[in-house]
Amino acid sequence: MDINEQELKAKLTPEEYKVLREKGTEAPFSGKLLHDDRDGMYKCKVCGQGLFMSDAKFDSGTGWPSFDQAIAGSVIEKSDDEMGMHRTEITCSKCRSHLGHVFTDGPTPTGKRYCLNSVCLDLEVK
Ligand SMILES: [Zn+2]
Repeated sequence: MDINEQELKAKLTPEEYKVLREKGTEAPFSGKLLHDDRDGMYKCKVCGQGLFMSDAKFDSGTGWPSFDQAIAGSVIEKSDDEMGMHRTEITCSKCRSHLGHVFTDGPTPTGKRYCLNSVCLDLEVK
């Protein structure tokens, strides 16, 4: 999908734009969805694609909303060696916006820990 960066910039807050389109990171424990435990679907703030279900969410203690699995096909994993460390970046498969990173130290049977920026998500409550 084509993104008009100027329109998007007008629609998002400066912090949202920085995280989603310039691979920024929100401050830990700052996100409004961190302690939101309502049931529903977490969607991409830019294109609205469903990314995570609330039942995959867990408290990782990191200060960012964390999930143990993504909705199939909704995120793309990409090697990220910036910042002097090896991580796996996750982006929305539809609009390619930056979402966060995925780690393999998850505490649940999937072994995955998707670490999200709250500002990248909208929660659609069931
Ligand atoms: Zn998207």
